[in-house]
Amino acid sequence: MNVSINHCPICGFKTDESHASVFELRCSYDICDCCGCEYGYDDDLKFYDDWVKGGCVWFEAKVKPQGWSLDYQVKNQIRPWPPK
Ligand SMILES: [Zn+2]
Repeated sequence: MNVSINHCPICGFKTDESHASVFELRCSYDICDCCGCEYGYDDDLKFYDDWVKGGCVWFEAKVKPQGWSLDYQVKNQIRPWPPK
């Protein structure tokens, strides 16, 4: 998959940083402000399932928008993940 990506593929949150590709994102080892996954490390669907089960606690609570809902960003999630 070789597309510009500026959202978290796990939770779908739109990030400030844009990565040229999924590969670059996964090499960044950045941490999602929303779900808190570390790309290339624990960015997997088990992490996501556990995060949802745990009540979607934000990694950086201070950037959480007012009235945030996971429903707004599920369209940005990339499934299956990781891509082949
Ligand atoms: Zn995320």
